[in-house]
Order: sequence, then structure tokens, then C-alpha cells
Amino acid sequence: MNVENCRKCGRIYNYISGQHICPQCKQALEEDFAKAKEFIRSNPNCSVAAVAEACEIEVGQIRQWLREERLVFGSLEGSDLTCEGCGAKILSGRFCEKCKSNVAKGLGDSIAKPETPKPESKKQVDGNKMRFLK
Ligand SMILES: [Zn+2]
Ligand SMILES: [Zn+2]
Repeated sequence: MNVENCRKCGRIYNYISGQHICPQCKQALEEDFAKAKEFIRSNPNCSVAAVAEACEIEVGQIRQWLREERLVFGSLEGSDLTCEGCGAKILSGRFCEKCKSNVAKGLGDSIAKPETPKPESKKQVDGNKMRFLK
């Protein structure tokens, strides 16, 4: 168990998983999320900024939910999210349907791989172990 300071309110709490915020802030965030979702449902053409203003949520937070595909925009008009592959407008996530299927086929390798730190990399100083990773 890791004791950490909450990134939002600074309170000390036991970090378990997910975002680095305390249970109280997590709870508040869930309520914000429900508000945003509801607002988008009744205002499908709204923009990210409009949701942020109406629900008093940070734009960055809303973007994060969209990227995580927890929130989905009702129409492309309001969405200012763009595909990381081709720049087309998208409703949520990181890629448009076309790029997603390219990724699924393995054609989009160069754009699809998020940088994932390898936890074992420290042990591979001698280089010999690299052979077993293939
Ligand atoms: Zn907190
Ligand atoms: Zn695309």
C-alpha cells in the first residue's frame, strides 16, 4: 500500500489503483462524470467547453473521459476531439473507426503503440536477458 498526497486536494490517503486522487475526490469526480454524461445526453450538439461550463468541470477532465471512452459526444459538431492517426473529428477515444481498424490489422503500428514503460528494464543491464524477451 502506498501513502500519497491527493493530486486534487492534497489530503494524504492510501493509493490503491487508478487516478492519484483520494476516495473523497474520486467520489466527487464520479458525480461530475454523471453530470457531464447527463448534460451531453440532453444536449447532444454541445461542445466540450459548454459541458465544462454548465457542469463546472475542467475541460481537461472532460477530455480525459472522452479519451478513455467513458464519455461519448452526441454529434461531431460539438466534439473537438480529433483522431491521433489522421486528424478526423471523432466522438470519443483516440482514433477514428478507420484508424482503429487499421490498428487492429496491424497497419497502424507506428501510431497505435502508447509508450509503456517496461518494469523489468532495470534488470537487463547485461543485455543477455534480451534474447528471452522475443
Ligand atoms: Zn482529494
Ligand atoms: Zn483516423
